[in-house]
Amino acid sequence: MKDILVLHTGGTIGMAHGPDGLAPRAGVVEEALQDLAPVGVSLSIHTFDPLIDSAEMGPAQWNRMIDLISAFQGAGVIVTHGTDTMSYTGAALSQALAGSALPVILCGAMHPLGSGGDAEANLSLALDAACKALPGVWLAFAGRLLSAAGLVKHDAQGVDAFRSVPQSNCSERFHVRRFAPWRLAILTLSPGLPPAALAAALAELDGAVLRVFGAGTVMSSSMLEEVLATAVVRGCRIRAVSQCETGGLTPGAYAAGAPLWRAGVENGGAETPEAALARIWLALSSTEDRG
Ligand code: ASP
Repeated sequence: MKDILVLHTGGTIGMAHGPDGLAPRAGVVEEALQDLAPVGVSLSIHTFDPLIDSAEMGPAQWNRMIDLISAFQGAGVIVTHGTDTMSYTGAALSQALAGSALPVILCGAMHPLGSGGDAEANLSLALDAACKALPGVWLAFAGRLLSAAGLVKHDAQGVDAFRSVPQSNCSERFHVRRFAPWRLAILTLSPGLPPAALAAALAELDGAVLRVFGAGTVMSSSMLEEVLATAVVRGCRIRAVSQCETGGLTPGAYAAGAPLWRAGVENGGAETPEAALARIWLALSSTEDRG
């Protein structure tokens, strides 16, 4: 008998129509799992209360998942989750659980269970994958298993909504890592952005992922460099990533990138913004656990 833990957090997969649109409905995922579970699989279902639209996902829920997953002794784990912030949870769990031998399979859908859409197939794929003992964190979606470390939700409507950008391996020995309540955000540079606006945002943060242009360039502005350098000097971690989906940053390629590195901004390479966010979050959390 294979023991599978299911963490049901919410998301469209278990939603039903209500007065304001789709919202989580208790029992939908639990019922489908009983129908779809293969012979020889024993399910323990842990339902989050309240069930959430994944717009509500954050460090408290990640920590809860990490605690439940790291205490589990069975064959594999399935996490049912809304698609909107799946890439954040994929990055968070991939890094926090790096080195764990347990298969953790994220699963969601663009249409609810019982609506004739993609949900049943995605859940069956997740059940199958959780039994196959492939260590790591994966997303079961649209017929494929994708590495969850670098997920990109590229389509807000279509059922083949995800792709995965390869991320560098965190080949660590497994130890439980949790997210402390630091103030972090992803900020995006855009032409004409007033440096004072960036300064105001950074003043409220302990760290930020900065989405810069192309291979790593920024507008030429001594004030921008000063804003970044001032934040770094007071201990704000700033990690640059590209606004391009693949390819990553190449420090030194363009003079227009020099202010970043002079100011002490970290090079996030080819990390997705979500992966870079998880990286600085966990790094800050390991230096001082506020959680
Ligand atoms: N808004 C939903 C959520 O992220 C979308 C989905 O699950 O597909 O929870």
